[in-house]
Amino acid sequence: MTAPTDTTTYAVQVHNIHKAFADHKVLKGISFQAQQGDVLSIIGASGSGKSTLLRCINHLVVPDQGDVHIGNDILRSHAKRDGTMVSSDPKLLEHVRARLGMVFQNFNLWSHRTVVQNVIEGPIQVKRVTKAEATAYALHLLDKVGLAHKADAYPSELSGGQQQRVAIARALAMDPEVMLFDEPTSALDPEMVGEVLRVIRQLAEEGRTMILVTHEMQFAREVSNHAIFMHNGLCEESGTPAEVFDHPTSTRLQQFLQPLA
Ligand code: ADP
Ligand code: MG
Repeated sequence: MTAPTDTTTYAVQVHNIHKAFADHKVLKGISFQAQQGDVLSIIGASGSGKSTLLRCINHLVVPDQGDVHIGNDILRSHAKRDGTMVSSDPKLLEHVRARLGMVFQNFNLWSHRTVVQNVIEGPIQVKRVTKAEATAYALHLLDKVGLAHKADAYPSELSGGQQQRVAIARALAMDPEVMLFDEPTSALDPEMVGEVLRVIRQLAEEGRTMILVTHEMQFAREVSNHAIFMHNGLCEESGTPAEVFDHPTSTRLQQFLQPLA
């Protein structure tokens, strides 16, 4: 029997995304896909638009052009009369966002809430899970990231690495289809980078679909199955980690990777 050829289900598809801030064109037509279980790394110089691209995926930044497919749902945007871009279907956006976990460089935990309160908030408010159920799951996830013993601590009592692991647990609590990481270790002291990367690596090994913006080239090479190099608002080069990291073809990427050699 011949298998049908076009049955690939993409977890994420980004089509021809453009974004400018005033006259500054940051994204000039970026497209990529990730299948379920893919770990996609996005690399590029500071200011190349990596965060903007990641934020376009959940419309934290609303693209000027292009659409985003999450599973079978399509996020589109349009201009209001005054020219500002808005997400075309707010209800759909809410539904899609609940299925995308995001982890930021600066953790973004709620400082006036304990660790476990941070983790249960989303499931209770958005998924209407009972507090008891949300708490049990939160404790399980905190255990997974090695922080069950900190459940009742406040974020300010934790190290940066611990706060970031809580942020990961908080994202996981929503059972996201896709995890988006924006330089999750960039704000950390060097000795804390490893503990966060270990958690991310474990998620990759479990087959989670992840899009990871990172400066940790060695880690990206090991953990991802696809990598994109952004330059000048475009995807300058993409491929397997072996292609992108070991055999870069563009001069720009060769220069970017040079300090590693
Ligand atoms: P990266 O994450 O690769 O460092 P960013 O996506 O954060 O790059 O930023 C790309 C460019 O867009 C930078 O020049 C930045 O200053 C600009 N930029 C990002 N967000 C905004 C914004 N909200 N308003 C104006 N300019 C922005
Ligand atoms: Mg950034």
